[in-house]
Amino acid sequence: MKAEREAALPTALYVVATPLGNLGDITARAREVLARVAVVAAEDTRHSQRLLDALGIRARMMALHEHNEQQAVGALLEHLQAGVAVALITDAGTPAISDPGARAVARVQAAGFTVTPVPGPCAAVAALSASGLVGTRFDFVGFLPPRAQARRAAIAALREREPVQVLYEAPHRIVECVADLRDVLGGAREIVFARELTKLHEEIARMSLADAPAWLAADANRQRGEYVLLLAGAPPQTAEAIGARETALLRALAEHLPPKTAAAIVAGHTGLPKKRLYEILLAQKD
Ligand code: SAM
Repeated sequence: MKAEREAALPTALYVVATPLGNLGDITARAREVLARVAVVAAEDTRHSQRLLDALGIRARMMALHEHNEQQAVGALLEHLQAGVAVALITDAGTPAISDPGARAVARVQAAGFTVTPVPGPCAAVAALSASGLVGTRFDFVGFLPPRAQARRAAIAALREREPVQVLYEAPHRIVECVADLRDVLGGAREIVFARELTKLHEEIARMSLADAPAWLAADANRQRGEYVLLLAGAPPQTAEAIGARETALLRALAEHLPPKTAAAIVAGHTGLPKKRLYEILLAQKD
């Protein structure tokens, strides 16, 4: 393909989303920006060179990754000070979303330069859009800690969250991560596996956590590949679900104490979420 080099863009840092796997997902604007900036800062220059080659774009590249972000921003700022436009890309998807870029953006903004997003693919959003999970709210959790004990603690902290929980997981940890999700959250919770999105072996599968380990084991390919995991949110904790004794105690305390204090005391003794207990008292008032 013929190499492109078009007129320069206004000086700014352009934060450009790139495909998750399917080259056809590059947006027209991303393509134009990458062709017109003076420098492309990439997480892995060799990986991104293949993308630019496929797009027929010849660009000067510099490396900006997790391990050199602070120093690389210095060089990036020099380009902006020289009056040229710079694009920031990562290996796949949207920079700064479980990817390097946030520190660079903050320092570029602090130095008084414009930062412009060029939106496009993002694994979390793609997975949510095709998950079939209903609800307007979601929490972006990203990667859980790699070590088992810390991972289990992080999962326990999600237990009461009512919005859909959106997780990223590395291919080599998918089996142990799913086993921990089942053990900590219980088998009844629903999970959606969004695997290899936009690629040849794309798969979106919804099931209970009880069935999830067997689904992973049923096909060796499922123990490889990129995954977004979506967990249905915790069922709302109504007064009924919280339990008659706890609710009665809560109400009795609230006759003598401010609602926040009553909720804090019951939460402290039962481990139930304080916010939910407080909301029950407010609903009773109304
Ligand atoms: N910044 C990226 C984004 O916008 O989605 C995410 C980068 S993060 C380092 C990589 C993780 O994103 C993978 O481990 C996986 O959880 C998820 N991911 C990336 N590409 C994916 C794909 N094609 N299908 C499913 N998940 C994907």
